[in-house]
Formats: sequence, C-alpha cells, structure tokens
Amino acid sequence: MSTQAVSEETAVVIGLEVHVQLETDTKIFCGCSTEPADDEAPNTRTCPTCLGLPGALPVINEAAVEAAVKVGKAIDADIPETTTFHRKNYYYPDLPKNFQLTQYDAPICADGELEVAVDGERRTIGITRAHIEEDPGSLQHVGGSIESATHTLVNYNRAGTPLMEIVTEPDFRSPAETRAFLAKLEEVLEYLGVFDPSRDGSLRVDANVSLVDADAVAADGSVPSSVLESTNRAEVKNISSHKGAAKALAYEVTRQRNVLRRGREIDQETRHWDEGRGVTVSMRSKEAEKDYRYFREADLPALEVADWRESIAIPELPDARRERFREAYGLDRESASKLTSSKAVADFFEDVAAEFDPELAATWVADNLLGELNYRELRITDVEGRLDEFTRLIALVDAGEVTVKNAEEVVLREMLDAGDDPDAVIEREGLGKAGAGEVESAVDAAIDENPEAVTDYHDGDEGAINFLVGQVMQATGGSADPGQVNGLLRERLDG
Ligand code: ADP
Ligand code: ZN
Ligand code: MG
Repeated sequence: MSTQAVSEETAVVIGLEVHVQLETDTKIFCGCSTEPADDEAPNTRTCPTCLGLPGALPVINEAAVEAAVKVGKAIDADIPETTTFHRKNYYYPDLPKNFQLTQYDAPICADGELEVAVDGERRTIGITRAHIEEDPGSLQHVGGSIESATHTLVNYNRAGTPLMEIVTEPDFRSPAETRAFLAKLEEVLEYLGVFDPSRDGSLRVDANVSLVDADAVAADGSVPSSVLESTNRAEVKNISSHKGAAKALAYEVTRQRNVLRRGREIDQETRHWDEGRGVTVSMRSKEAEKDYRYFREADLPALEVADWRESIAIPELPDARRERFREAYGLDRESASKLTSSKAVADFFEDVAAEFDPELAATWVADNLLGELNYRELRITDVEGRLDEFTRLIALVDAGEVTVKNAEEVVLREMLDAGDDPDAVIEREGLGKAGAGEVESAVDAAIDENPEAVTDYHDGDEGAINFLVGQVMQATGGSADPGQVNGLLRERLDG
C-alpha cells in the first residue's frame, strides 16, 4: 500500500482518537454506579446488563446523551436528528458480551472543530466525528506485565462506563500541537461539566502517525487525501496523558525517520506505548474495519435527538470567557489565561471580583491561591468547600486587618497546611495588624532608643530611616504597615 518517498525532507502527520470518560452517575446502558470502586471488591458494580448475561437488555442513559450533545455544541459539530448504535464484535476477556456497544455510521457528532494556539499561531483542528460507547472492564495481570504475569484477573466494575471517542482529522503537524489540543479539549470538557480530569484513566489517546514528503504539505498545512491514503501509518495505543502523548509521538516520529533513512518502509501497524521504557512496541498488524463485523444493535431503537438537542444549553467556553475577563476586568493575557484555566477557578474569581477590586481579586486568586495550590499539587476543586475562607482572607487584607506580606506568606500557607480558617491563623500567630496606638508607641520607642540613628537622619543619611522602620516592624511583630511607619517616623523627626 505504501508509496512512500524516501526523502530527507519529511513532514509529520498525526491524527488522534481520544477516549474521554463522560461524568455520569450511572453507566451508559444500565443503572450501575460509575463511582470509582478501586478500594472496593472487584465486580461489585455490576448487573446482568453490564456483565453481558443472556437476555439482559440495554437502556440508554439520558445523561450520557446530554453530555455528548454538549460536547457536540462546544466543538461546533453537526448533531443529526437521529443517531443509532452498533455492535463492534471482537473477543477479549474484558468484554463480556464479545461485542462493544458503540456507534458507527450515525454518530452523535460529526464534522466539528477545535482551535488551538501553538507558539502564538492559531490552528483549527478538524474533528471528523465523536461518538458514545461503553468502556470494557479492566484486566489485572498478576505478577507483572502481560508477558510475565502468572495469571490475569478481570474486573467488570468499569464495564459500561460511558465514553466519548473523539476522532480528529490528520491535521496535526507536530507532537506539540497534539499536546495543545489535548489540553484545550480537557479544558472545554471540564467547562461543560462532563469530564473529571483528575479521575484515573479518564482520558486515553490513540495516535496515528505517518511521515509524508515535505513537498506534499500545502501552505495552509493541509495534505492531499491521496497522499494521506497512500501513506502507511502506525497507530500508537495506550497513551494516558498529554505529557505521555507528546513523548510517545516524539519517539514514534524519530523511529519512523530512522526506518526511512535506512531505506526501509513503514509498516501499517498498531504499536503500544510503553510509558515506563519510553518506547513504542509493535503489537500487531492493524485490524481493518471489516474485521469487526459491525451491525445495528437491535436491542436499542434509533435515538431521536432532533428536538432534544435544542433544549440542551452549554455554558460560556474558555476562549470566550478569557476574552471577556480581559475586557471586563482589565486583565492582561497571562492573568486572564490563569483565571480561566478551569471553570471552578473562573467562577471563584468572578465571585471575588464582584466584592473587591478586580486587580486585588486577580492577584489573590491567580497568583497567591493558585500558586500555593500548585506548589502543593492541589486543584481548586480540592478546596471547594473552603472558598469562603479564602474570600474572608481577602476581606481581611482589603480592610487592612493583616498585612499583605503576612497574609501571603503566613496565613494562606497555614490555611492550606494546617487546615485552619484565616481568623484562627491570625489569632494563633499574633498577626492582627497593630493598632494605631501600638504603632505610635513603637515609633516613639524607636526614636528614644536610637539617638545615633536620629542624628544620622538629621545629617541627611536616608539609610537611617530604614533602620528605624526596621526597629518598629520588629517591635510590632511585622504587623505594622511599613509605609505608615515611615510616614510617622518622618513626622516625628521633622516636626
Ligand atoms: P481507521 O479506519 O484505520 O481507524 P480512520 O480513517 O478512522 O482509520 O482514521 C483513524 C485516524 O487516523 C484519524 O484520527 C485520522 O485523522 C488518522 N489518519 C488518517 N490518515 C493518516 C495519516 N496518513 N497519518 C496519520 N494519521 C492519519
Ligand atoms: Zn450494570
Ligand atoms: Mg477508526
């Protein structure tokens, strides 16, 4: 099939098939819970339907369809009036029915797109189709890898979890672009409330990679379909993160370049990404569509989504929200980006900005809170129940009850590390801002106790005032405002 030119100048062509887990309470074709059951006995979240027992019938989960329609709207896809389900037949121990219930020729989303920015350049990635399907169960190879295990256990708790498979056009020209796309996709899915990026295995990627003659690439980055179709490609499976995708693809591109350089041809095959070793390994020659004997699922009627799709609304998406933040709150690009990186962060910022100055809100949410959370490898959703406490801290800073420095360096950190509320930390650490009387007496004391510094100041030594400010700050345990202390000192010394 390959007519690959062995040219020095090759261009990279990548297309992705991304599986994302849709967040629903129950499985896609039965009422079993989708809660992760890691710490529970295996095969407890199962029923006759997801175990594939004879006679058990599937019923479509309304929430999974709604989630898929939201994704379709977000990627500007065509959502047909009617969508249908098919059986994809293959035998594997994690697939109890020996077929996967999926979609084939009438997927719920077709012909969408997603825009990404890489190094300041905007590129539109075409999305061929996106369909819903059930996840298989999971296998546990006991005693090592699939090759070295003594035996394998199967757990059907995951079987029937709703997945959306998103298939892109071969529009990527570098691994970096796939990374930007996956990040953007996660961001959009998270905004839609249909996806939990922190859930294990919630995003899985298969990447199709080929090399074409650089001359075949048009100025707009497109490659003629005749070239794409006549070029052998490897499908790299088992990629579970965006970082993993960039690494696996960089490896695979180099591998293919080396094969061509040696004058050999690229095989059309499926390869496995071995995360631990950082290599892709040949698994099998790629199966063709006909191998799956697709046929219509007779136990599920065609699903009419014509009216339904109109009633499903989606929230403002990250790009639009970023633009609005820049305009409405006067934020720079970087702050707007940070503050819209997740819907939870953006919502919290807007709550804070409604109460305080937007600049103060931006500094506290984007720099201080996110900075300290990142440092602790936490996400805002990990402290969701405590957002009032962070607002309270900002209120205390705004009212001058605690210095900015103490609030940032002591109170916020203690809040996160010890789990206390801000008032408790301030009380315990004695960080309440010194009262006016206390500051004034500390200023008087500093002047009385340091006659030499006073003389130096009167002789024009500006450094002396800094020394005196330092004395007052020390006496008040850092709770005075340095600017105010400076002013009070000058008043006394000049008066
Ligand atoms: P298959 O039927 O083999 O799964 P598809 O047409 O469904 O093939 O395409 C699967 C994926 O392969 C898509 O993401 C598509 O963008 C990508 N793809 C198609 N041609 C190429 C190519 N020449 N190089 C890299 N990826 C490609
Ligand atoms: Zn079930
Ligand atoms: Mg395919």
